[in-house]
Amino acid sequence: MFKKIICNFLLSGHTFSRDDEYKKYKFMFLNNVSGFAVFVSIIMGFVRLKYGSSLAYIDFFLAFTLSIGLVYLRVNREKVEQMATIMMLLLYGLFVSIYILNIVQHTTFELFFLLLIASVFLKGSKFGFAVLIIIISTVIFIQVTDLAYMKHSNMDIFTFSVYLIALYFIMNLYRSLQNAQHKELEYLNNNLALLVKNKTDDLMLVNRRLKEEKEALKIMSATDQLTGLHNRTQLEEIFEYEKMQSIRYKKAFSIMMIDIDHFKDVNDTYGHHVGDIVLKEFTQILRKTFRDVDTLSRWGGEEFLILVPNTDLNGIKEVALRLRTAINNKKFSKAGHKTVSIGVTTLHKDDDFISIVKRSDTALYRAKNGGRDRIEVG
Ligand code: GH3
Ligand code: MG
Ligand code: MG
Repeated sequence: MFKKIICNFLLSGHTFSRDDEYKKYKFMFLNNVSGFAVFVSIIMGFVRLKYGSSLAYIDFFLAFTLSIGLVYLRVNREKVEQMATIMMLLLYGLFVSIYILNIVQHTTFELFFLLLIASVFLKGSKFGFAVLIIIISTVIFIQVTDLAYMKHSNMDIFTFSVYLIALYFIMNLYRSLQNAQHKELEYLNNNLALLVKNKTDDLMLVNRRLKEEKEALKIMSATDQLTGLHNRTQLEEIFEYEKMQSIRYKKAFSIMMIDIDHFKDVNDTYGHHVGDIVLKEFTQILRKTFRDVDTLSRWGGEEFLILVPNTDLNGIKEVALRLRTAINNKKFSKAGHKTVSIGVTTLHKDDDFISIVKRSDTALYRAKNGGRDRIEVG
């Protein structure tokens, strides 16, 4: 309980946010120093009263004014800055009074050392410098006008002034050192943050490239190099999707297997390169004949498998005829006229990829055996 009260008085925490840490320390300093000063002043007041010194009243006055300041400070915690200034001025006035009125002690210079330390700590170097000049001027003024009860030698005043100036410079140096350390830390911190940011950016870039490469690889692995059509890799997957759609929406779904007739002759007569060109030109005709929703694939060498959704057997026969006619009318580079054999079939209830492909393949085989350049239904 007692400990809690003491802690609450001394630390008086919880009311300052984290970024107000500096304010909190100032508050603690003012709070604790004034509390201690009130305590000491009251004791000293009674002691001096006992010895009949009139300074006792100054002690009591000090205790009184400091108590008011302390209460005000604790009620208005945010006004630390203003309170610090007021407190310093108050102390200055009181210390000067004590300095002038003192009849017991030889010197009361030490009070001014305390004032200077508190000023620099609470209000910074500039304020501290002003206080330094004011104290020295005041002391010299009192010395010259002979105001003080206790007479000091000029040497005393000179020494005091030099010590006070030395103290100021030491404190200032300490503050500069602290500032430098602070800046150094900040610099290191910023550097670290920058480093982390750069590394993160690098990683993100690498990550994006990896993703792009992965996408490219995926497309490459599913695409036939020569024609740009799908290869077999993804075909079964696309088939499963189309099959599901056709069942779900009760739409027909057909496939077409195409094989160029006597293609070997092209290679044999004009070379493999011309064969490649013919395959590319053939692909262009495929692209023109089918719709975007149809899936065009190169099944192997000069064989092509097309998935044609939303199309029944009559429909696929019609498309096949259109393709056959288009090929018949085409004059390929060097190779001239070519024909195709086509096997078509439509999706049956129990079909899987293998069974439907097999049926179209059988139809194609029949077309070949039937003399080529024809369409057979599987
Ligand atoms: P058919 O009428 O019975 O289909 O006879 P075909 O000559 O077309 O059939 P075959 O299966 O005997 O020959 C297919 C040829 O296709 C063999 C091969 O050299 C050629 N071929 C396969 N892939 C490519 C390719 O990518 N480029 C070229 N230029 N030729 C290819
Ligand atoms: Mg073939
Ligand atoms: Mg062929």
